[in-house]
Amino acid sequence: MNTINGKTKTICLLGNPVDHSFSPIIHNYGFQQLNMNCVYVNHKVEEKKLREAIEGIKALGYIGCNVTYPHKIKIMEFLDDITEEAQLIGAVNTVKNENGKLIGYNTDGLGFVNGLKRKGIDLHDKRIVLLGAGGAAKSIAVALAIHFDCSIKICNRSINKAIEVINVLNTIKKSATINHEAITPEELHTEEIDILINCTPIGMVPNVDHIPFEDQLKLHSHLIVSDIIYQPFETKLLKKAKENNCKIHHGLDMLIDQGILAFEIWTDAKLDFQDLKGFLKSKIYHD
Ligand code: NAP
Repeated sequence: MNTINGKTKTICLLGNPVDHSFSPIIHNYGFQQLNMNCVYVNHKVEEKKLREAIEGIKALGYIGCNVTYPHKIKIMEFLDDITEEAQLIGAVNTVKNENGKLIGYNTDGLGFVNGLKRKGIDLHDKRIVLLGAGGAAKSIAVALAIHFDCSIKICNRSINKAIEVINVLNTIKKSATINHEAITPEELHTEEIDILINCTPIGMVPNVDHIPFEDQLKLHSHLIVSDIIYQPFETKLLKKAKENNCKIHHGLDMLIDQGILAFEIWTDAKLDFQDLKGFLKSKIYHD
């Protein structure tokens, strides 16, 4: 870490719990690589203390913060402005302190999209299925719908949650020919789609032998398969997709890309994806 001195600026994570977060590793590495006099620290904040924590960000002149469970929704009440994307998602994971005004962003969805773009994947006109309808699925679906003319199906065991996400997507649908849809796992037919994204925790450690909705999955070689789980690095779903010659996208990439975007929001500086990925892989999977 850089030497902390009288001019060091602070960015933090607000959440509860926070001790397993990789954000300090990502951002302190970034500050070091770019020789910036900043430090990133975790603050465990109870729900009833959130307002005071936000006031602290302003009072202490923090550059900004990340926000994680359980504060991503509640924090919106205490901010001065919120981007349209974060408003549609209904959650904020990054805050910038702009001369005393706190601006809320959500970098999860756009971070994910940036990762696919880096792989040369064109998302226009693609038929995309997201498995799951939780916070991560909604962030990704909203970013896809805002930035691309693609058709999105949300596949979830609780159909009502999938319908809620689709209702949001339909408010931002860009083309009349695009049709977004909520489906149950039984209605999933992967033969008819281009991109499959797992946004459920199925397959995450310790349940690494599980594949989401396995009986429904026929992984044809033109399918792009993404799994946003980053523990383990390669889920059983991604291994199976690789065996079937599908192009794959790892959850670690999304973790890094959402961090790169937040770093840029705070500092205007861009971190090198490959360099950060190499560093983070060594920290997460080999320590
Ligand atoms: P969440 O809000 O709790 O949503 C989880 C979704 O998965 C829900 O739709 C839930 O369905 C479904 N689900 C959970 N267990 C299931 C099961 N056994 N069978 C069928 N469906 C199941 O969680 P989240 O915040 O969206 O996160 C989801 C996953 O993404 C987690 O593993 C998380 O670690 C990962 N993630 C990764 C990144 C990254 O940067 N790579 C970022 C965010 C999240 P119901 O609606 O029916 O309950």
